[in-house]
Order: sequence, then structure tokens, then C-alpha cells
Amino acid sequence: MPAANAMVLGCRVDAVNTQAAVRTIVELAREPEPSIVVTLGTEMIVRAQRDHAFRAVVNASALSLCDTIGVLYAARAQGAPIPERVTGVDLMEPLCRTLAWEGLSVYLLGAKGDTAARAGQVLAARNSGLVIAGARDGYFSPDEDAAVAEQIRRSGARVVLAGLGSPRQELWLAANLKATGAAVGIGVGGSFDILAGDVARAPELWRKLNLEWFYRLVSEPQRWRRQLALPAFVLLALRERIVGERKRAA
Ligand code: UDP
Repeated sequence: MPAANAMVLGCRVDAVNTQAAVRTIVELAREPEPSIVVTLGTEMIVRAQRDHAFRAVVNASALSLCDTIGVLYAARAQGAPIPERVTGVDLMEPLCRTLAWEGLSVYLLGAKGDTAARAGQVLAARNSGLVIAGARDGYFSPDEDAAVAEQIRRSGARVVLAGLGSPRQELWLAANLKATGAAVGIGVGGSFDILAGDVARAPELWRKLNLEWFYRLVSEPQRWRRQLALPAFVLLALRERIVGERKRAA
């Protein structure tokens, strides 16, 4: 686990850049015990305030990556040296390049229909030698969990990319990763939709201006309810900061 990290509203965020995250994941992929990697977003932290089981999964992860700009600012406001955002979709390319070199295979679990399979084809085409052990959609019932884990186990995958949306992907990995036989499970949200070209990502300029959240709100207005997590997060983070400063002053 990386040395420096921050606690944002009770959730651990690790101070690593993309390169260090990839290095750690490859090391974890060689370990006998399974590890979970989370890409920690604003909505997840808001959920963790009321869902303590979910918070425990986040904090028990081997690596908790800073997924959103809100989390980045809140962690930096505490003086934590978080170098950059490491989103699931940004992680995927450099990770798959390294997994290809290292001969570690990957399974893509999540999204609708054949999206995960198509995302796998894109990753394999861009990263020569990458072994896609398998792929399947993320629309199955809890009764099928064991069968899905068994499918992954039979594929021999070392790394499971779980794009089931949060909190389902983290909870699924916490309950089922061991049975898959894979060494690492990473929650990657809607990354397969983007890789397969089904959903457009915010243009680079919007991302540079830290406005990806606003682009998503405009392009997928049906998400507005979920995006209420953002102002809730800002208020909670401010309150945490003020309370912290008062305690230090007392
Ligand atoms: N998804 C899934 N199974 C479900 C619910 C969602 O595989 O039961 C997929 C969904 O198709 C999408 C991804 O999970 O590909 C999550 O997308 P969303 O944009 O909600 O996630 P975020 O990246 O914001 O966590």
C-alpha cells in the first residue's frame, strides 16, 4: 500500500499517480491473496457516509485511486500529496500495456450486451500481446454471482476489470473476487462504454478545465439526481474542514 494517503470524509485516498498505480497493480497481480482496487469518486464518498459496509470495502482496498476532481481538491486541502486524478478509463490503457508485457491476463465484467467484449477487442488491438481471458455483460442477478465467478475462474484471468457501476462493482468484488481465482479486481465504472465507443467522453479541453462532471450533466441530463452528490460532497467536505480547523485551534 502506498505510504502517503488522505482520509476524505472517512474514506482513504492514496497519493499515487497513474504510473505508480499500474506498478502496484502488477505487483498485486502476482500475489496469492486477492486485492481490490477502487477508483474513488465523489458519489462513492457521499454514499459511504450512510453505508458503512460500503465504506469498509473502500477502506479495506489495496489501492484507492482518486477518480474525481472533487476528491482531488478535498484531499489536497488537507495537504495530502495527491499527484493527479486516476480514473478507471485513464488507468486502463497503461495498465493493459503493462499487463501485456507481463503476460497477465484480464477479464472484463460489466456493461450491457457485448460492450465489454468490444472494449476487450479495442484494448487487445491497442496493446499487442494482451490476453483477454474473457468478457461478459454486467446484467445478472445475485443468484448468478457464483456462476459468474466460476466463469472467470475457468478463464484463468489474473485481473478482473469490473464495470458494474458503483457500489455494485465494489460490493461484488468484495463478495466474489476470491471465488474468481483472480488476484486483482478493479472497479472501473462506465469505462467499457467509453472504450467501445458507445458513450463519448468529455472532450480534452473540458477535462483540462476540470469540467468533466459538467459535461456529463449536460450530455446525460438523466443523471442529475446522481449529480446531487456533488454539492452534498462539497458541503460535507467544507464542514469536515471547518470542524478540523476548530479542533486544531482549541
Ligand atoms: N452496469 C452493469 N450492471 C448493472 C448496472 C450498471 O454492468 O447492474 C454498467 C452500466 O451498463 C455501465 C456501468 O455499469 O456500463 C456504470 O456506468 P455509470 O456511468 O453509472 O458508472 P460510473 O462510471 O458513473 O460509476
